[in-house]
Amino acid sequence: MALFEEQQLKIYNSISGEKEVFKPINDSYVGMYVCGPTVYSNVHLGNCRTFISFDLVFRYLKHLGYKVRYVRNITDAGHLENDAETGEDRIAKKARLEQIEPMEVVQKYTVDFHNILEKFNNLPPSIEPTATGHIVEQIEIIKTIIDRGFAYEANGSVYFDVLKYNEEKHYGKLSGRAIEDMIANTRELAAQSDKRNPQDFALWKKAEPQHIMRWPSPWSDGFPGWHLECTVMSTKYLGEEFDIHGGGMDLKFPHHECEIAQGEAATGKDPVHYWMHANMLTLNGKKMAKSTGNNILPEELFSGKNEVIGKAFSPNVARFFMLQAHYRSILDFSKEALSASEKGFNRLIEAYASIDDLPESSASTINLAEWKQSCYDAMNDDFNSPILIAKLFDAVKWINAIKEESLKISAEDKLELKQVLHDFLFDILGLRDGEKSLDNNSDKLSGAVELLIKLRAEARNNRDFATSDKIRDQLQEMGIQLKDGKDGTTFSIN
Ligand code: AMP
Ligand code: ZN
Repeated sequence: MALFEEQQLKIYNSISGEKEVFKPINDSYVGMYVCGPTVYSNVHLGNCRTFISFDLVFRYLKHLGYKVRYVRNITDAGHLENDAETGEDRIAKKARLEQIEPMEVVQKYTVDFHNILEKFNNLPPSIEPTATGHIVEQIEIIKTIIDRGFAYEANGSVYFDVLKYNEEKHYGKLSGRAIEDMIANTRELAAQSDKRNPQDFALWKKAEPQHIMRWPSPWSDGFPGWHLECTVMSTKYLGEEFDIHGGGMDLKFPHHECEIAQGEAATGKDPVHYWMHANMLTLNGKKMAKSTGNNILPEELFSGKNEVIGKAFSPNVARFFMLQAHYRSILDFSKEALSASEKGFNRLIEAYASIDDLPESSASTINLAEWKQSCYDAMNDDFNSPILIAKLFDAVKWINAIKEESLKISAEDKLELKQVLHDFLFDILGLRDGEKSLDNNSDKLSGAVELLIKLRAEARNNRDFATSDKIRDQLQEMGIQLKDGKDGTTFSIN
């Protein structure tokens, strides 16, 4: 019997606002689509959080025994600077600034994206299609939507007719918006474009002469609208209706709302059964975002070369930190929170590593079966990783109590305990086995530099400037910079 027949998974469906029992369209198969990155810059930790959230979903579904086809696209065309469909194509703009080909931009940042997710131990998706690889399919679906009366051509561009669609269906059902409010909010934009109504969105845009990313179509030399690629690539690989569609919370409107409208307009079917939205990673209480500069790059975190963090954290610890929050909760990034996670992570891994050496008894005084089920219950409850992690810490308490012989474990249960912890820590949470030493070394290095900072302060107090300068200069030669501020001295490592 497959595990999914024993465990009842519930998923919070953004469209109903409720946790629903998960029932895939085809028994043991699951189709999942997640909006991937627009590859015009390095991914920041916020982007990574969303992809780690869905890696957890992917891993758990696989663990339950489902055969999962996980499709995650690469947006390499059509995503304009502003969500209001104005401005340059983000990739073309970067290509112009760097004086390289748009496809060089795409290649560079796709490679970066893969490298970073690999460091976080994310599993690769089953299919990773690109927007530029599906221009033909996008043109075909536009024809269908026009034929079915839900889109119109204007000046070489094609727009989705939101009001027409809303006569039959509900545009706004995912984001909970009413069309009347949308109209009221966008009235002043009405005169500025070829759109019949400002709510309409582009399926195809005619390229201005300077727009270099362009393809021929029945309407003009141009490029597809951003929302269309996800409709095309999800349904091409998963079917007109599929199980799960995910993405960051910020994509709910307009991107995902438009995907529903396009799908229903093209096929008459609502494409997605379960909508999942991952919440944002914030820094100083504000969303991490490329555009505002309020972000940290993964490499800055791993190397410690960042003013906010100022200390290296391993990808494993960063991943653990993210999984200590539920994917639907906002998570704020700070050195203190990461340090706390690092300590917790080390405690867990140390306890796990010590299981083999635990003293054995003829009978156990712990109830492993009940505990194991409580771990599954946490995950079955909409992938509640923080509750799961709390349960795993219960095992740490046991392990320590067994060491002190206030609890007992049988040889058989020892094997089972190790297996269950292994499954949850490494297969499901996706932590990398055996990386603790790296965290230890970075801890030790920080400790040693802090000690030198203290000695330097003492030397200065004693007016022994020769020694204090020597400490600063020699650390500098090793690539460790000391910075004196009003709250004391901090350091960064090059
Ligand atoms: P983009 O490349 O901007 O399309 O973003 C790629 C993915 O990262 C999308 O699913 C976004 O929702 C997600 N994302 C962007 N910023 C954040 C953030 N601060 N926290 C979590 N996810 C984010
Ligand atoms: Zn998308």
